[in-house]
Amino acid sequence: MSVRHFVVGLTGGIGSGKSTVAALFGAHGAALVDTDAIAHRLTGSGGAAMPVLRAAFGEDIATTEGALDRVRMRERVFADASLRRQLEDLLHPLIRETARRQIDAAFAAGAPYVVLAVPLLVEAGDWASRCDRVLLVDCPVELQRRRVIARSGLSGEQVDRIIAAQATREARRAVAHDVIDNDGDETALAAAVSRLHTRYMALAGSEKPG
Ligand code: ADP
Repeated sequence: MSVRHFVVGLTGGIGSGKSTVAALFGAHGAALVDTDAIAHRLTGSGGAAMPVLRAAFGEDIATTEGALDRVRMRERVFADASLRRQLEDLLHPLIRETARRQIDAAFAAGAPYVVLAVPLLVEAGDWASRCDRVLLVDCPVELQRRRVIARSGLSGEQVDRIIAAQATREARRAVAHDVIDNDGDETALAAAVSRLHTRYMALAGSEKPG
């Protein structure tokens, strides 16, 4: 039996439409692995990263339920960039390892290809080198803002700060093999995903087994 290992890294700025796109690929039969969800589970109550984080940063970064106190941790790393690096150095190998295991399990279960959602693909780590292709969901910043404000209730100012801290559209486009311009309606988005799915099925089929 040949085992395919075609992995598409999916990225894009906040509100660009990544989650929507991931769900559309899932409906076509692609397996989804989500690094954000993995990070949340690792740092949730009883998560595998919690003993390491408590040892490194102290008991007060955990809530009474044993999850990472995100607000407190954010304050700490905001005040000290070296702490942010330390946090990333501890978390990233665990995220990578968990993602790898989930990808292996998806292929073992017969997935034709995997969509690996990595919001910070351009900003952090060497995810691009682990993917056969990088797919960017892109849209104008103003549309991003509008979508995030409508979805989250954050203020325009808060959203601007998040967008400013993320990679620019140009930096993302520089690493992407494929781009979905998500500046149309949901029908146009579904059609774009459908076209790419056909392409990825063909590419996955021509990958060498191994
Ligand atoms: P991300 O995962 O990149 O943060 P989402 O997929 O959650 O983005 O999309 C942000 C918001 O915009 C969601 O509420 C989603 O339903 C909406 N949205 C995304 N793409 C479109 C589109 N083409 N037309 C209308 N609404 C969209």
